[in-house]
Amino acid sequence: MRIAIDKDVCIGAGQCALTAPNVFTQDDEGFSQLLPGREDGGGDPLVREAARSCPVGAITVSENAGPQGGEDTPTDLRTLPRT
Ligand code: SF4
Repeated sequence: MRIAIDKDVCIGAGQCALTAPNVFTQDDEGFSQLLPGREDGGGDPLVREAARSCPVGAITVSENAGPQGGEDTPTDLRTLPRT
């Protein structure tokens, strides 16, 4: 899993850190950042929920390339049904 935070879009709402505190934190200015060693999400199922919870869509989650390789396909989590 690959997680990208668009810091130009992030407004520091903190929803990501509240939703998945084992992966996201906030820097000194309140903007989202990934915790050290959790750049791949650490297998935390709350990462996708955190991305969904971001009010400005600043978080993009994409899966790593499969066994045949190929491009990562970013997933727009706002279009996925809630589970
Ligand atoms: S929820 Fe979105 S806007 Fe809020 S801190 Fe996280 S990335 Fe930034």
